[in-house]
Order: sequence, then structure tokens, then C-alpha cells
Amino acid sequence: MTGQQSLQSQVQIAELHDAFRVFTDATASLEREYQLLRGQALELRGQLAEKQRALMASLERERELELQALRQSRLAAMGEMAATLAHEVRNPLGGMELFTRLLIDELAAEPRARRLAEQVARGIQDLNHLVGNILEYGRMPEPRLARTSVGGVIEEAFAVVGPSLHAGIRVELPDARSLQWWLDRALLTQVLLNLLRNAGDAMGERGTLTVALEVEDSRLLRIIVEDTGPGVPPERAATIFDPFFTTKERGTGLGLAVARAAVLAHGGDLTFEPGRRGARFVVSLPGSESAPTPGRA
Ligand code: ADP
Repeated sequence: MTGQQSLQSQVQIAELHDAFRVFTDATASLEREYQLLRGQALELRGQLAEKQRALMASLERERELELQALRQSRLAAMGEMAATLAHEVRNPLGGMELFTRLLIDELAAEPRARRLAEQVARGIQDLNHLVGNILEYGRMPEPRLARTSVGGVIEEAFAVVGPSLHAGIRVELPDARSLQWWLDRALLTQVLLNLLRNAGDAMGERGTLTVALEVEDSRLLRIIVEDTGPGVPPERAATIFDPFFTTKERGTGLGLAVARAAVLAHGGDLTFEPGRRGARFVVSLPGSESAPTPGRA
């Protein structure tokens, strides 16, 4: 090879080397571009998946809301129907209650038949209680306040519930005949009926049902209904006042909701506390100075 040929081939090699470097740089730059685009594509895919999830969640939420609205309108229709039914049932029940009481008196000399009539009377009382709660739940309680004997109200409620309590249940009532308070007799009787009934249901065949009073001057009256039943588990304590919440086979879950609404309408409060052994419900009623004036008799 001549010197000129050797120079030529060196130039060609250098050119090839340059071309190769350009090619390598271009490949590296392409590779970087590719990685960048790949990263962007992955990110976009992630964002798309996120958007899809959000869309699905909002569709699901919309469906839930639609179902909830449907359920609520059906419940409202059922509520109206229940109130109409309760109203229609109340009148014949009143007659049946009266005639059964007369029948019980007539059967004084026939104990077996009399016991049967007493069972009918208890069934009628249960129905009356149910109907009363359904009707009360449907309307906003508007207390008509009057100076009322607290002991009288407790006795009135107990006269209704007492006969359905088991013989093994001891009852301790306060002597409060002389204690007068501003309250709606019918509404407060319904409140106590529900609390006493629940205490009786909770204890079953034996236990002690105590009604106690606490008076803070003339500002606040507390009526405490306590039983020695199984009580309410802490995780359920917040739920028991919800309408329709019941753990009883034949319960409506309206008793405590109705009772609380009636006490709140008095400007007071109905609360649950774990009792020493069972459940303890406290009806707090404001006194004459703080009692709401509208409706005062
Ligand atoms: P219902 O009596 O129809 O169940 P309530 O609203 O009166 O409706 O009561 C709701 C639930 O609260 C009851 O089913 C029961 O689980 C609970 N409860 C109420 N009172 C008591 C009580 N004294 N002891 C234990 N649980 C109670």
C-alpha cells in the first residue's frame, strides 16, 4: 500500500468512526426519548385508570342516591299508609278495650273464662300501644303544658304497664304525688309507658324496676327509669334512639324515638346511661322558669 492509499484509508476510518459516533449518539438520544415517552405513557395510563375509577365511583354513588331516594319515597308512602291504618284501627280498639273490661267484670264468678278475657285485654293493650306509637311518630309533638302531679303520671303509666310485668319483677316507685311540674300529661305518660315497657321486656321474668326522681330546685326535674336487665352494649347505645331500630322479634323500634321527640318538645332531653346492673334512662325536664311558654295551659 502506498503512502497515499494508507492516508485515504485512515481518513475513511476516521469518517466511519465519526458516522458511528453520530449513529451511537442518535441511538442514545432516541433511547432517552423512548424512555421519556414510555414514562409519560405510563403516567397517562395511571391517570386514565384513576379517572376511570373516579367515574365508576361517581356512577355507583349516583345509583346509590337514586336507590336511596326510591327507598325514601316508598318509606314515606308506607308511613302514610301505616298512619291511616293506625288511625282506623284506634276507634274499634277503644270499643274492644271497654267491652273486654266489662266482660272481665261480668266473669267475676268464672275464673277460667275471666283469665281468657284478661289475655284478650292484654293483647288489645299491646295493639293500643303500637297504634299510639305509630300515630305519635307521624306527628310533631306539641306539648300543652299544665301544672301536673308527677307521681300521678308515673302511676298512670304504671297502671297500664304493671299488669303485663312478670310476677317476679319488683317495682320501686317514688312517692311524688305532691310534686307538681309543668308538663303535658298525655305525652309524658306515653314516654314513661315506653320506658317501663322496655324495662319489663329487657328483664323478662325477674329483676327490679326502679323509678327515681331528682329535683334541682325548681329548675330541673330528672325522672330516672332503671332496670336490672342485660343493659345495652356500648356499641349499640348510639343506635337505640333511631326510629325502626329494634332487637325484638315483634318490636317496631319506635318507642324510644317517640319518647325522645316528646321530651325534646318539652325543652328537655332523654338520655341513656349504663345502669348499675342494667339500663338507665333519664328524662330531664326544665322547670317552671325555663319551661317553654307556647302551649302552656
Ligand atoms: P322496640 O321496643 O319496639 O324495640 P324501642 O325504640 O323502644 O323499640 O327500643 C329500641 C331498642 O332499644 C330495643 O329493641 C332494645 O334493643 C333497646 N332497649 C330499649 N330499652 C332497653 C332496656 N331497658 N334494656 C335493654 N335494651 C333496651
